[in-house]
Amino acid sequence: MVDWAAHAAARTSRLKPSAIREILKLTQRGDVISFAGGLPSPDLFPTTTIGAATERVLRRHGATALQYSTTEGHPPLREWVAARYANVAADDVQIVSGSQQGLDLVAKCYLDPGDAVVVAAPTYTGALRAFDPYQVRYRTVETDDDGMVPEALEAALAAGAKLLYVIPNFDNPTGTHLSLERRHAVVELAGRYGVPILEDDPYGELRFEGAELPHLRDLAPERVIHAGTFSKTLVPGFRLAWLIASPEALEPIRRAKQAADLHTSTFVQAIAVEITADGFLDEHLVKIRDHYRSQRGYLLDALDRELGGGDGFHWTRPSGGMFVWMTVPSAADGTPADTTALAHDAVAAGVAYVPGESFYPDGGGLDGLRLSYSVATPEQINTGIARLGELLRRATLR
Ligand code: PMP
Repeated sequence: MVDWAAHAAARTSRLKPSAIREILKLTQRGDVISFAGGLPSPDLFPTTTIGAATERVLRRHGATALQYSTTEGHPPLREWVAARYANVAADDVQIVSGSQQGLDLVAKCYLDPGDAVVVAAPTYTGALRAFDPYQVRYRTVETDDDGMVPEALEAALAAGAKLLYVIPNFDNPTGTHLSLERRHAVVELAGRYGVPILEDDPYGELRFEGAELPHLRDLAPERVIHAGTFSKTLVPGFRLAWLIASPEALEPIRRAKQAADLHTSTFVQAIAVEITADGFLDEHLVKIRDHYRSQRGYLLDALDRELGGGDGFHWTRPSGGMFVWMTVPSAADGTPADTTALAHDAVAAGVAYVPGESFYPDGGGLDGLRLSYSVATPEQINTGIARLGELLRRATLR
């Protein structure tokens, strides 16, 4: 018998299960209305288009589409990705198996044990889980409704950092985006302290309100590794995404990618090229944005109705993406909010959210919670937020 636990590498102790997945298990009960999952709405998956494209790929390019291919990615797909950005060449594009793999590869190539990574608090749990096994430390940056607060960012960078991780658009978990002024401040500060930026942008194309803002990569191409993905615009099941950076920055990443999985599925890349060739994605994005805009409207209306009475509850008002972040005031008797403890009462009351604590690397966030409006129907949103409103009002009355 092998004692696998005793045999395991030290880094496995840093591999934590996702708290979100634990909550999602609880919400499988039929009568729970869930705002917890961050899944894109499956009603938006272009299944018929994918079927037709798959059939064409097999008919026209069967042998090559099913063969091993280059680590950098399928050349036509790299060209297509480059053309969607300003001043990006195909050589600046590395195809990856989901931006999640991109986060792992960047950490693997650029972070040594003990290195400090600067992240927003709160930030995407999956990024923390990707960085953790590289035995890094975190410096957290306070955020407000415009994203990272520059003074707090400067303090974190000044304390010494190896990498700055930023979600510029419709952040997971807060739904906020960095204002133009803040984008300039972020690249200026990173430049001053000589720190590279990992710009994680899965939601940028899901802007449903307001003018598009430049990527951090547009402002400082030499300093930024940008991650984009098809997960929120096409389908997450493709596991198809890309990193954009200078060929020098991508060089170790390409070697690490080769060692990890040789290359991303040739077949899936060929299907994506076939689907996107005739401008399909831009037409499809109109539908996606319309859906998320109206879903956001239902959720904000319900929140205004249930908790808008000026009792100290605050929530963000996103202009894109799929998340709203709420902060809960202390109770009348001064007891601080505890959204982790309340999550169980919420599920018992038939509604689920993700407790804020999950998005903080070093504790904190007990007054926060994440609500996703991507999949609930308008009726479920109204009923679910009425349940949540009652629970939160009761919890803060004490
Ligand atoms: N970054 C962020 C901020 C995300 O929210 C997600 C998906 N939940 C990812 C990365 C991973 O996306 P992908 O499907 O491309 O791996």
